[in-house]
Amino acid sequence: MSRNLIIAANWKLNKGPADAAAFLDAFCVVAKDFKGTADIVLAPSFLTIPSVVTKLDGCDRIAVASQNVSEQESGAFTGEVSTCMLKEVGVQYVILGHSERRSIYGESDALINAKVKKTLAAGLKPIFCIGETLAEREGGKLESVLTTQITDGLKDVADLSDVVIAYEPVWAIGTGVTASAEQAQDTHKFVRSVIANLYGQSAADAVRIQYGGSVKPANAAELLGQPDIDGALVGGAALEAESFFGILENS
Ligand code: PEP
Repeated sequence: MSRNLIIAANWKLNKGPADAAAFLDAFCVVAKDFKGTADIVLAPSFLTIPSVVTKLDGCDRIAVASQNVSEQESGAFTGEVSTCMLKEVGVQYVILGHSERRSIYGESDALINAKVKKTLAAGLKPIFCIGETLAEREGGKLESVLTTQITDGLKDVADLSDVVIAYEPVWAIGTGVTASAEQAQDTHKFVRSVIANLYGQSAADAVRIQYGGSVKPANAAELLGQPDIDGALVGGAALEAESFFGILENS
């Protein structure tokens, strides 16, 4: 089964509207003759999203994601942003369950599950992140941790067609340490087998599983060349147009 690659930039708490505009100007220059077919996604901060959507007007190649969303619809939830608001300003994907949301902001599998369902109900596409810590991997808990994250995070989600999974080993995020292509492939294959158990083989064959964790132009080709790796979620190397394009070029 062939799955189209999806390469996403997670800008985290970086780039206000001016920096994002400068990135897009530079990106258009380096990417103008790009013939690749990968889906390209940019995830700016909430505040920067409208200016990025406006700047991308007419450029269907690049979709916009948010880095989070509320599980609530509306009301007295100070500081939150809803799926309706994101849809209104042109967002298509929502990153959910990122390890920084899990570890710094204490997001549980149950909360992430509520957000995944809210996102899907709004017609948006979750980029659902999972991943183990180094202690969990070294303690032989890799498979149980990922199985729980998947089972609880996708509880009562009947259809995976609009879901992208991002496998991001926590020890590789922002550390410069990348999982080897073999480690990443083995884990992606395992994740796909968990999906096959829960949703059947054809859903498992169709679902896209991105790898995230210190992806850069120098390691992108090897990682993206693995049979079960269907793209990348990129943090640090997506902050500069040239290096983000270098990853796309290697896709
Ligand atoms: C991320 O934050 O999702 C990520 C993968 O970051 P980095 O590429 O910097 O490791």
